Order: sequence, then structure tokens, then C-alpha cells
Amino acid sequence: MKRFELISAADVPAAAQARSVTVADAMRTKGGRPATDAVVLKAGGIDLLDLMKEGLLEPGRIVNLRDIPELARISEEPDGTLRIGSMVTLAQLAADPAVRARHAALADAAGRSASPQIRHVATIGGNLLQRPRCWYFRSLHHHCARKGGTTCFAFAGENQHHAIFGHDGCAIVHPSTAATALVAFNASVELFAAKRGTRVVALEKFFLGPSQDLSRENDLKSGEILTAVVLPPARPGMRSAHLRQGELESFDWPIADVAVVIEVEPNGVCRRASVVLGAAAPVPYRAKGAEAALVGKRISEDAARGAAVAAIAGAAPLGKNAYKVPVFEALVRRAILDTARTA
Ligand SMILES: Cc1cc2nc3c(=O)[nH]c(=O)nc-3n(C[C@H](O)[C@H](O)[C@H](O)COP(=O)(O)OP(=O)(O)OC[C@H]3O[C@@H](n4cnc5c(N)ncnc54)[C@H](O)[C@@H]3O)c2cc1C
Ligand code: SF4
Repeated sequence: MKRFELISAADVPAAAQARSVTVADAMRTKGGRPATDAVVLKAGGIDLLDLMKEGLLEPGRIVNLRDIPELARISEEPDGTLRIGSMVTLAQLAADPAVRARHAALADAAGRSASPQIRHVATIGGNLLQRPRCWYFRSLHHHCARKGGTTCFAFAGENQHHAIFGHDGCAIVHPSTAATALVAFNASVELFAAKRGTRVVALEKFFLGPSQDLSRENDLKSGEILTAVVLPPARPGMRSAHLRQGELESFDWPIADVAVVIEVEPNGVCRRASVVLGAAAPVPYRAKGAEAALVGKRISEDAARGAAVAAIAGAAPLGKNAYKVPVFEALVRRAILDTARTA
């Protein structure tokens, strides 16, 4: 690994003035090698160090965000809005009583990601901004389309973990499990820049599919600090569930995960539904057909089955990942029925 300078930012304005670039920009090659003078941000460092060990990233300076206490807090505003600082770890998120009580799907998604050791270091900000797991992307020897090449090796290659929806020139799946639940809860992110202050973007719009930009997974701009994830107040009758299926029951990324958030009238009829699939598409995939199928119905085995069929309509599996389609169908059906446990 190349030598680099490590500095610690004392507060958010100092971090924003550090002239950082996004890791996507820092990975852009100069004559076949990543830039060696780039300044990048580090949260827990799990993905950042992976990219450096893989030889895909060679920054000159790393700015550590771990000494900024205000980023490591979860706070509730008077109207019930929940602000989750970007340096809150996945373990903190999973154990927080307010998150578990009102946003169970998020607590479960965070609490079942990776291993206990990783969850105690990995932050929610870094988790949302981690780069894709596609093995061609992670290989120094494959200059694929997402890294500025001309070929997506996954289409004709080993695509068993790749996308079944939205693979428009690149078939990554979004790597963040927490993002599946956060999109289902209509969360937003706060992004601070030194000259402009804070902008707030709905997470669903923040993530970018390959047809919007093939070289990056989100709209983070160079110099911006992701300061918080914001969850709107819980609504009356809101219930949620998150389920994941691993290839092995181990700490690896899921091959499929599903978050369901529903709002139920006192008479048991579903007023509003969010059904989001993770590890299905380059961005968390909102299954609009499933959502429409639930509204106006009581949650029952039949309603869940109908919504699950609607969720997988339009799936376009690649050569080796058709197995994902029935896995998603089963997860959606079970997650809808599971929402009853948070009633
Ligand atoms: C064995 C293993 C299993 C895993 N399983 C899962 C899983 O099941 N589900 C899952 O979702 N993840 C999984 N992960 C991934 C892991 O959760 C992420 O790598 C981790 O969450 C990244 O967080 P971090 O704080 O370490 O980020 P870092 O590695 O420090 O940063 C990641 C990126 O975000 C940028 N960044 C970080 N914070 C900010 C900020 N505040 N503002 C602007 N930019 C910022 C960094 O520059 C970098 O580009 C797994 C990882 C491993 C090693
Ligand atoms: S799926 Fe995307 S990241 Fe993977 S090889 Fe194809 S272009 Fe590259």
C-alpha cells in the first residue's frame, strides 16, 4: 500500500475545507493508475481500506471524521423527525430504542448487516457511500465500464450476484442493506459543503442508476460531507419489516433483501405501502406494483401473495441469477406478513 498522510478533522466545517474529492473521483485512473494526490474522507474505514488494499485507490491524504462528536448522535426533534448522524455505527443504530420502536425494519437491516465486529466500526454514512461489490469492479485486472472502460464483464460472465432490474449498461446491485430500509421509510440525507451550507436530498433521488451516471452510485459532490440521515416522523398505524437472504447464513452481503413499510387504518385496511428490494438493482428498487397491490386491502396471506407476484413483474435476470426471482417473491410475501409483528 502506498504511503499516505492521515489527519483528523475537529468539526464539520474543518472537514468540508479539507479539499476532499469523492472516492469515485479519486479512483479515476491517470494513465492506468488511480490518482495519488487525492484527499479522501474516512469514516469507519472498512470500505476505504478495502479499496486501498485492492490497489484501486491510492490517496495522498485521508481525512478522518471519527473525532467529530456531533456526527455520532441520534436525536429526535419535537415533531418526531429522527436525525441519525452519519458517524452513528450500524451497531448503535440497531440497538437504539427509538429506532427499534418506530423503525424496526431499519434496526433489523442494520443489525443483521456484516459481522458484529464490522457493525461496531462501520458507520451509516460510510455504509450508504460504500462502492459496489461486483467482483470485476473490485479486480485491478478488469477495466470495466464503471471504471471508465468500455465493457461490462458481468453480462457474459459470473453474474450470479448481480442485478435483475435496471441493469442498463452495468449490473451492480446497490451494496447497502440499510439503504433498502431507509428508502422504504422515505429518508433523506443532509450534505454540507463549505461554500454553500447544507442541502437535503431524498435518498431515493440521491442514488444514481447507470443510465444517470455509470461512474458513480450517488450524487455526493467533491467537498461535501454527509452529516445526517433524516427519517420523517412515524405515522399512525405504521408497521415495518426487513428480511434478508444470504448465500450462507454468515456475515456476507445478502443475495436478496426486502423492506416493507405499511400504514394501516384502525379497521385494518392498508392506507399506504412501501416495498423496496435490495441486492436487486443498481439502486434500492421500489416495487411500485407491489405497493399498489397492497393499498386498500387488509394484510392477509392472499394480499401478500398478490403483492409478491407484482413485486417481481418485469424482472430481467441475467444468465446465472434467475434464482433470485423466486427468492424475492418469497421474501416480499413473508416481509408483508411480518409487518404484523410490529403492530
Ligand atoms: C465481510 C463484510 C461483510 C459485509 N456485509 C455487509 C452487509 O451485509 N450489508 C451492508 O450494507 N454492508 C456490508 N458490508 C460493508 C460495510 O458495512 C461497509 O463497508 C461499511 O458500512 C462502510 O462504512 P465505513 O464507516 O467503514 O465507511 P468508510 O469505508 O470509511 O467510507 C466509505 C465511503 O464513504 C465515504 N464517506 C464516509 N463517510 C462520509 C461522510 N460522512 N461524508 C462524505 N463521505 C463519507 C468515504 O470517503 C468512502 O468513500 C460488509 C463488509 C464486510 C467487510
Ligand atoms: S456490473 Fe458494473 S461494475 Fe460490474 S463489471 Fe459490469 S460495469 Fe463493471
